[in-house]
Amino acid sequence: MDFNDSPEEATYRAKVRAWLAANAPKAAARSADSESAEGLARARAWQATKAAAGYAQITWPKEWGGPGGTPIQQVIFSQEESAAGLAGAGYFGIGLGMCVPTVIAFADEATRLRFVAPALRGEEIWCQLFSEPSGGSDLAGIRTRAIRDGDEWVVNGQKIWTSGAHYSDFAILITRTNLDVPKHKGMTMFWIDMKSPGVEVRQIHQMSGGSGFNEVFFTDLRIPDSQRLGPVDDGWKVSLVTLMNERNSVGGTMGVAWPEFLTYLRDAAPEALGDSAVRERLAEWYVQTEGLKHIRSRTITALSKGQTPGPENSITKVVVAHQLQAMVSEAVDLLDQFGIIADPAQAPQDGVFHGSFLSAPGLRIAGGSDEILRNIIAERVLGLPGDIRLDKDVAFKDIPTGR
Ligand SMILES: Cc1cc2nc3c(=O)[nH]c(=O)nc-3n(C[C@H](O)[C@H](O)[C@H](O)COP(=O)(O)OP(=O)(O)OC[C@H]3O[C@@H](n4cnc5c(N)ncnc54)[C@H](O)[C@@H]3O)c2cc1C
Repeated sequence: MDFNDSPEEATYRAKVRAWLAANAPKAAARSADSESAEGLARARAWQATKAAAGYAQITWPKEWGGPGGTPIQQVIFSQEESAAGLAGAGYFGIGLGMCVPTVIAFADEATRLRFVAPALRGEEIWCQLFSEPSGGSDLAGIRTRAIRDGDEWVVNGQKIWTSGAHYSDFAILITRTNLDVPKHKGMTMFWIDMKSPGVEVRQIHQMSGGSGFNEVFFTDLRIPDSQRLGPVDDGWKVSLVTLMNERNSVGGTMGVAWPEFLTYLRDAAPEALGDSAVRERLAEWYVQTEGLKHIRSRTITALSKGQTPGPENSITKVVVAHQLQAMVSEAVDLLDQFGIIADPAQAPQDGVFHGSFLSAPGLRIAGGSDEILRNIIAERVLGLPGDIRLDKDVAFKDIPTGR
């Protein structure tokens, strides 16, 4: 493991810092504000600035509009962007990190040319229509049906928890196309225009007061076969490309980080530092933070050497999401009666602890729940026996549904 930048990495970091100092917007958004038109407009402008300078998707090759940089350069840029107080991919993360790479991998040349550049510049936003009431962790349990009708497919069903569907232009959609084969073998992926007739988006009101994700209903939605991504009934393999990108992109910075939390505590509640119970928890979070730093260093070292990081990203996400929830819960407690104020204009620390307190539970579910990630760690890191999968070889139509 190497904790230091190589000479080339140090040069790149200095170049990025200088560029950010000259170009980063002054009033940087603290986080992706998916609720306001101004937040979206600001994010689009920053995305366009990054794309013009070759910093939007650093690892993308030149033919896709990227600079053809290395994964470690992407890590360095993200670190510096975050240190500059900028939100990172925000609105565009799902599209650029998961949907567009899936389109690039499976669509024809004309489709790629049509979509890649506008997504890179933040002009078009994509969402991921995977989870359903019957299939979240078990993606292969989905029931949204696509039935072929000549050169088109007719889709009926429902998705849920679709982040950003309410402002998205396009989506990738996984459907059930064959009931007579085991669940992993009868799915097909498409890209769709979110403004198509037959697509209805309903925002879900969250306990935070926001509405960042949605239910999406399909009623006789017609999709041309030319919008299919990958072979018929082979959508599972296509979705693995999307999910691989998802697991690799979640687990970096999420909400309030340890240094921010400690700074707050020193400023706002210095007396808490003398409380032995608080000190014990602080020591635990400090140790966790150091452990995470080393796990991240392992990932960064692998990237730096041109290798693919292993499943250790799952460890990072489980620990970060838990730690965030515990720290912001402590902060809300220490704020006493002010902890319940949500309005950023009134609340201490711009309401960041209150906001994170309400969103932290979701982070333990998004991109793989705690239990699913622990299964991955058990099976792929520790080499323990696999999860029991009783329905693996059963035709989808014969899987008991409880109805
Ligand atoms: C903030 C956020 C954003 C999201 N954005 C999107 C999006 O843009 N697009 C999209 O398609 N989806 C999105 N999701 C949905 C997300 O992918 C699912 O919520 C997640 O996969 C879990 O699925 P589920 O909610 O159906 O829970 P379930 O799969 O029903 O799980 C319920 C509980 O059972 C546990 N469990 C399930 N299977 C196992 C097992 N094999 N072993 C042990 N325990 C198990 C789970 O850990 C969980 O505790 C988002 C979710 C959140 C919270």
